[in-house]
Amino acid sequence: MPPTPRRAKLLIDGRLVETETTFSSTNPATGDIVGHAPDATAAEAEAAVAAARRAFDTTAWSTDVDLRVRCLRQLHQVLLDHADELRELLIAEAGAPRMTTHATQLDEPIGIVAYYADLLGTYPLTEELGVIESRGRKHRRWVEKEAAGVVAAITPYNYPVQIALAKIAPALAAGCTIVLKGPPDTPLVTQALGELIHDHTDIPAGVVNVLSGAGPESGEALTNHPDVDMVTFTGSTATGRRIMEAAAKTVKRTFLELGGKSAMIVLDDADLGLTAMASAFMICSHAGQGCAITSRVLVPRDKHDAFVEQASTFLQGINPGDPNDPATYMGPLISERQRDKVHGLVERAVAAGAKLVTGGEKVDPGWFYKPTLLTNVAPDSEIAQEEVFGPVLVVIAYDTVDDAVRIANDSIYGLSGAVFGADNERAIAVARRIRTGTLSVNGGYYFGGDASFGGYKQSGIGREGGVPGFEEFLESKVFAAVVG
Ligand code: NAD
Repeated sequence: MPPTPRRAKLLIDGRLVETETTFSSTNPATGDIVGHAPDATAAEAEAAVAAARRAFDTTAWSTDVDLRVRCLRQLHQVLLDHADELRELLIAEAGAPRMTTHATQLDEPIGIVAYYADLLGTYPLTEELGVIESRGRKHRRWVEKEAAGVVAAITPYNYPVQIALAKIAPALAAGCTIVLKGPPDTPLVTQALGELIHDHTDIPAGVVNVLSGAGPESGEALTNHPDVDMVTFTGSTATGRRIMEAAAKTVKRTFLELGGKSAMIVLDDADLGLTAMASAFMICSHAGQGCAITSRVLVPRDKHDAFVEQASTFLQGINPGDPNDPATYMGPLISERQRDKVHGLVERAVAAGAKLVTGGEKVDPGWFYKPTLLTNVAPDSEIAQEEVFGPVLVVIAYDTVDDAVRIANDSIYGLSGAVFGADNERAIAVARRIRTGTLSVNGGYYFGGDASFGGYKQSGIGREGGVPGFEEFLESKVFAAVVG
């Protein structure tokens, strides 16, 4: 018997709230209803901002470091204790393969909360600038770092827990109060975070508020609101532009983690079999729904055909399947809309002259899509420039390393990338020439609470994670006092 559909609630000012209108959340692998989420109105967004404002302005949250460390440690423990509940929701609602919930989707991100609890215990919130003499007096000057204020955190569907925690944990550590607005495609798992905070932590009322909505209205209400000091957003570049425009009206501090079209450069001395395998597994990771996935592979011209043959063999061996099955590597796309978008890009690429080597097919029931490889693709064509957000790899031949670097950098995006080569130092030297926020050399793994993540160019502004990800939520105030 399928589990009873879940009914989620908003978290506003320390209370779990039901709304008059709800919207359903669907399992992308089966089409079954996973549950119903509250469709927050602009009035509910207003109430959430008022609660966050009150908690920031009138309680000790922003100044009581010990309370914040204790609450973060408690939240970390609660997430560990309830990980299996979140795991089942992530699998059912996001179509995240079970095996990935033991890594980047869930178990690893829970560690982000512990990282920021530790950092808050050691980070110097004050800095002495020393005493200077001016106008015949001595002046002691120092800097105090304090919370940026009320934060609107707006998140996408693909890694709903990881991205929410990467915003909530440093914001709470800094002393901010938050209104988190989750994505329409995975509202239940986002609301579950709010319910856990409400039921099991001492985080004071109003410090964390959590909203879901079927459309962008509640998110828009936040980005337009004069009482919101800062917006932290992860999502598409198109939405990021709209958010920046809205936030500009009240000159909010704006942090953006946006789209990507990252390149993997295969150097002439790279192990072709290994890189073909890496590129295939990378593009199929969460069915291609990852911002940092390398979706363009640049291969020396004389190795192009051999690479394409090997990569397509690996791709044909990855069968999209039931995300519940512990052996499944690749699950479905999030929705029919997303699958139609992916398929449309593939069809237009083929119409423009690309060669479809494998894939390009929908698999029903559910929103599955076959791992796809396209070649004969011009570097400036739509399929080589647009973020697909599906399991679609394009392979492009290059003549010289300079050529490869130029093609890799020829993008509005600058999020991530990879270089493979037999000589690590040579590969690192090439990686240094790529204008992106993260780079993997020979399969190096950069994710971790202490590593900051973010983009150059239209992939975003700012860094999430690590010390820079904490400082995003801090204001800096310089004091000067006459001391003699
Ligand atoms: P999206 O941009 O469609 O939506 C993201 C969030 O913004 C959702 O919560 C949505 O409701 C909200 N939203 C939409 N319009 C809004 C508006 N006008 N004002 C306020 N909020 C608004 O993104 P998506 O489809 O959920 O996620 C996929 C995208 O996210 C991809 O482009 C991917 O690259 C990007 N992403 C980036 C990173 C990163 O770290 N750089 C990580 C994950 C995903």
